[in-house]
Amino acid sequence: MIVYLDNSATTRQYDEVTDLMADTAKNCYGNPSSLHGLGLDAEKAMKEGRKRIASAFNSSPDEVTITSCGTESDNTVLMGIARTPRPRAKKIITTAVEHPAVLEPCAELERRGFEIVRLGVDNKCRIDIDELKAALTEDTILISVMAVNNEVGTIMPLREIGEIKKEFNKTHGTKVLLHTDAVQALGKISLDTKKELKDVDMISVSAHKIHGPKGIGALYVRKGVNLLPFVLGGGQERGFRSGTENVPSVCGFGLACEMSVKGMNERVEKMNAVRNYLKDGIVSEIGDIVVNSPDDGVCSVLNVSFPGTRGEVILHRLEQDGIYVSTGSACSSNHKTSKGSHVLNAMGLKHKEIEGALRFSFSEFNTTEEMDYVLGKLKSAVEGFRKLGSFR
Ligand code: PLP
Repeated sequence: MIVYLDNSATTRQYDEVTDLMADTAKNCYGNPSSLHGLGLDAEKAMKEGRKRIASAFNSSPDEVTITSCGTESDNTVLMGIARTPRPRAKKIITTAVEHPAVLEPCAELERRGFEIVRLGVDNKCRIDIDELKAALTEDTILISVMAVNNEVGTIMPLREIGEIKKEFNKTHGTKVLLHTDAVQALGKISLDTKKELKDVDMISVSAHKIHGPKGIGALYVRKGVNLLPFVLGGGQERGFRSGTENVPSVCGFGLACEMSVKGMNERVEKMNAVRNYLKDGIVSEIGDIVVNSPDDGVCSVLNVSFPGTRGEVILHRLEQDGIYVSTGSACSSNHKTSKGSHVLNAMGLKHKEIEGALRFSFSEFNTTEEMDYVLGKLKSAVEGFRKLGSFR
């Protein structure tokens, strides 16, 4: 039996997406910039893909730029903003729990003279809105706050942050922009740029978290926002992001967007039921644990600490039974610092809670029957470790 619970790292591609991409690669291989018929066919396919991606934002297709991944979308915003000519505005407000795709460009900008304010979080990874209000001053150029945290699943209050930004700009005559890294939010919470995200200016997303292909992302930039391009060259993407387009992946991403956004509420309900089933099972069956995810977190993530164990050892033990989980984000697992996850550290967890943390991340394909199997194996892995100290 295989139970894949690492969907925040990446998801299994929808078969329909794979079929469409194979068909596009075979039959639609022209360069969308070419003037002949094959080029026009590729351009038409791109147009349809972009339209489907835009529908995830309820936006116009020309507010969507295709990128190579979520990381590139985030870098485009931060590096683009830094080059926008607003000489006195040198402050960027972000959080201490962003993905490295935001934190690393921020660190680079800090080295170049920008002031970076990293908002702290509480033990459920929630920011303090008053802290954000206090940090917001006339020299601020950008606020960048993720929509959903990838390690524990906390949903950030973007509607509220948007309102604060709008009001601040109105009263101070400033043009502070708001960006969100919504890589873990797409397909799980609404990214409607006319409703919930009506005051958000830029949104980063990635296809491989929603059963789309790897190596393709998108950046929504609201009409009228002046952001300078990051990748320069032949002028594709209306001059905003050069490079010959990855036509099959754009088509695949478009279909994945359509499939994961349509009927989202029912899917979220199902995923919440599976997540809560596992959480309740862990709480009642395994002693001395800490649930790090908030109750009202995203449906796809459950982070739990099993103090007295090592997450990494439990992960490999579970793998022997066909269960795939993570110790945190895939990135922080590979580039671990001696202190462990920067998110769990920012939440103030104790060392043994960080060391024993596991992330279970769900997709629409998981079932409660699978969770019964996981629970049994997890319980014996945790109890075995606690009794013997280690499996090695
Ligand atoms: N932002 C968040 C919150 C993520 O979880 C990830 C991937 O894990 C990224 C950005 C990077 O996306 P990509 O893998 O498409 O570069």
